[in-house]
Amino acid sequence: MLPTDTALVLFSGGQDSTTCLAWALKNYARVETIGFDYGQRHAVELTVRPQLLQSLRAQSAEWNDKLGEDHMIDLSLISAISQTAMTQDIAIETQANGLPNTFVPGRNLLFMTVAATVAYRRGLTVLVGGMCETDFSGYPDCRDDTMKALQVALNLGMDTRIKLETPLMWRDKKQTWELAEELGGQALVDLIRSGTHTCYLGERGALHDWGYGCGTCPACDLRARGYRQYVGAEV
Ligand code: ZN
Repeated sequence: MLPTDTALVLFSGGQDSTTCLAWALKNYARVETIGFDYGQRHAVELTVRPQLLQSLRAQSAEWNDKLGEDHMIDLSLISAISQTAMTQDIAIETQANGLPNTFVPGRNLLFMTVAATVAYRRGLTVLVGGMCETDFSGYPDCRDDTMKALQVALNLGMDTRIKLETPLMWRDKKQTWELAEELGGQALVDLIRSGTHTCYLGERGALHDWGYGCGTCPACDLRARGYRQYVGAEV
């Protein structure tokens, strides 16, 4: 990894992408962020994004210097062309093909492709995403091979040498909390705990030890279990 490399982080305001952003700020000379508005049922993630960026700037003068522009992209076409529990008011369940209906087909492929186009324009050389195969929610576009194939396709299609980095690919949720501690100490863990949003239902009422959320949806369940393993509590 070259210190002169510059990165564009797919930043949604969730636990994973916030950890990825801290990771990029540690490893690259210049870091920009990109977020997507695709008609999410609950836009909570989008409202916590700017607060998180501000808090990360406040946590470290070095991070403040490195952190550049934030790009917010309208991808509302996703809700027009797909039918999923992420964009429509339907119950979360498993579909006949074994995938949960929170899966938005091709979403990460589209996100990475749009990010690559922005990176091309901004002269950024690395794309960072929170895709993870370890706590695999059944999303085939989070696979390591999917990302590697996409990197090849993007570089062939745009005649570039853009690198796709997925620092969480082989970490479980417990290890993601550990990575946050390694990158920014207790202050970053606390910021991620109370400042990020993961819950599928958009619930943000009570602050649990692992953060805000309904506590029962698949995203909350994963997050809560990982946090309890991280602090060494009973799971
Ligand atoms: Zn939830």
